[in-house]
Amino acid sequence: MKKIVLKEKKVSDDFLIASFEFENPFNDNTQDFIKPGQFLMLKNRTEPILAKPFSVLNTNRNGFKMLIKIIGRFTDYLSNAVSGETFLYRGPYGTAFEKKLDLSKKIITIGGGCGAAPILFFNEHYFENIEKTIIGFKNDSIRNLINIDEAVYESLSGKTVIDELNEYLLLRNKVGKPIVLACGSSSMCQELHKHSLEMNYQLFVSLDERMGCGMGMCKGCPIKTKSGIKMVCKDGPVFNSDEIIWEW
Ligand SMILES: Cc1cc2nc3c(=O)[nH]c(=O)nc-3n(C[C@H](O)[C@H](O)[C@H](O)COP(=O)(O)OP(=O)(O)OC[C@H]3O[C@@H](n4cnc5c(N)ncnc54)[C@H](O)[C@@H]3O)c2cc1C
Repeated sequence: MKKIVLKEKKVSDDFLIASFEFENPFNDNTQDFIKPGQFLMLKNRTEPILAKPFSVLNTNRNGFKMLIKIIGRFTDYLSNAVSGETFLYRGPYGTAFEKKLDLSKKIITIGGGCGAAPILFFNEHYFENIEKTIIGFKNDSIRNLINIDEAVYESLSGKTVIDELNEYLLLRNKVGKPIVLACGSSSMCQELHKHSLEMNYQLFVSLDERMGCGMGMCKGCPIKTKSGIKMVCKDGPVFNSDEIIWEW
């Protein structure tokens, strides 16, 4: 695993933004260290726990930023870590969104909670491809960390990202079947799949699955698809939702 140093950290109630610095910066400023859709496996040096998968929010030659939801042992540890602490990472792993999407078309992007990270990273890389973006959070505590123009807060508006998408699609005045790329909880992706059938759009979902190795070796993140069992880490995390056997 490679070393990275926690440079800066901002914490709100249930999220944090962590900036990490590489031990050795890349020489080339345009270096594509990681592509939107891919993820890194991250761990601390002191605890005997497996590395955990995280997307990046953005990256440059010196390091990368992550948007992290505090939900358990590692994320809690990170929320209490101090600047200067060394962490370990390996990767990038997974298939970049660009490999599964037709980038000659416009795309509607949807992020739920920490699923905002890969979506905002994708938007930054492919801004010319973005038709519309909706980023949903349960509450607005994230505003203490980051200003996201496209954010909607369920606690304030009473609307989920699916409600917002539905409203947009009903008023949409564009030629061609809408294409939606979404990243969020399993329940959000599952609801979106049902909605895509009702509203007739093409949906790609980046799945948030518990992972062991992150590179397809441990077979710990299986998903049933129309073309057999696939590993979310290696064959995904992004899939065409029509390919997934959701009942599994
Ligand atoms: C490809 C990919 C990219 C990801 N990117 C991000 C990201 O950018 N930001 C972010 O905050 N999180 C992201 N995640 C989720 C992240 O990996 C988990 O939240 C993290 O592993 C939790 O570690 P922990 O030790 O804090 O929690 P643990 O102590 O391991 O678990 C705490 C609780 O959370 C549940 N849990 C753990 N992992 C997941 C999971 N993947 N999905 C649903 N429930 C889970 C456990 O069952 C348990 O109930 C991503 C996951 C994947 C697969």
